[in-house]
Amino acid sequence: MSKFWSPLAASLVPYVPGEQPKDKTYVKLNTNENPYPPSPAALKAMEDAVNDDLRLYPDPTCDELVRAAANYCGLSPEQTFVGNGSDEVLAFAFAAFFDPAKPLLFPDITYSFYKVYAKLYGLSPKLIPLDEEFNIPMEQFQGEHGGIIMPNPNAPTAQLIPLSEIRSLLERNPDNVVIIDEAYIDFGGQSAVTLVPQFPNLLVVQTLSKSRSLAGLRVGFAFGSEELIDGLNRIKNSFNSYTMDRVALRGAVASLADEAYFRETTDKVIATRERVARQVKELGFRSTDSKANFLFIEHPAIPASELFAELRERGVLVRYFNSPRIDNYLRVSIGTDEEMNTFVGALREIVE
Ligand code: PMP
Repeated sequence: MSKFWSPLAASLVPYVPGEQPKDKTYVKLNTNENPYPPSPAALKAMEDAVNDDLRLYPDPTCDELVRAAANYCGLSPEQTFVGNGSDEVLAFAFAAFFDPAKPLLFPDITYSFYKVYAKLYGLSPKLIPLDEEFNIPMEQFQGEHGGIIMPNPNAPTAQLIPLSEIRSLLERNPDNVVIIDEAYIDFGGQSAVTLVPQFPNLLVVQTLSKSRSLAGLRVGFAFGSEELIDGLNRIKNSFNSYTMDRVALRGAVASLADEAYFRETTDKVIATRERVARQVKELGFRSTDSKANFLFIEHPAIPASELFAELRERGVLVRYFNSPRIDNYLRVSIGTDEEMNTFVGALREIVE
């Protein structure tokens, strides 16, 4: 606490990002990064951008990237917004669409940044508890409220909501904005972007951080009606007109254009996930049905805190959440086959 802080700064409980360790080289399975490098075409485009003219400001309206992303989803540029990582896009969306006078609905076990943004913007979250199996009770998202947000697949539980249930959710809630955060959608889900033309209150948020291996570049998207995209631009242009730098803009466009590389690396991650899910079950773990690039696992007899520490000692870093209901679970990002062999080998040693 400092006397120089505003009442707002003093009131915040900021998000603590997953560890980026500096003490030694780990098999790093703790922050859901992609183990494969970004598209070579994207790397080349970024090199070119660096050698281009960084004296100049970037295009504030990000036209080329907006067009590329819109095209990719079969939408118009007016239905598309780009930002500095989906975290920033989400922050703008919270400011643009949610009514502080009414509760904001989201699942009680979910991406922990939602609570932080709610606090930042003076919103009142109403947390809807997941059921015994960690499914989101979709029918409870209705009634009097100021908006809805949920990830699909959910994090850290990794479970997917079928598109038909997203559609019903939108049909039941026509008067408030519904944000579907699709950070992990490319690993086995069906995107709700196809519903954008029918539902003016739907905002779909995506990122290049996971399936495109560009977490370090910070590129996120939102897709929604023109009305919603205008709302996001009002917030963005009241904050920082240049949220996207010239290098990120060029890299992102090239990444979206390299469909073959995207398919190849995503398929590899999915195949590895399925194999490791089988292997950890053979070792006695319970695993949710993951449609993301991570597993959410629990051992009935060994506390997760102990597994986390033992893995760390063996040079494998995973994510442990010291929070209610999930404090016996570990979230394990899917790495290369070799990294996952090290992980499974270490688990075997600990368990047996
Ligand atoms: N949404 C969810 C559900 C996430 O897990 C993450 C990554 N931590 C993000 C959004 C943010 O991703 P980024 O800002 O890298 O696009």
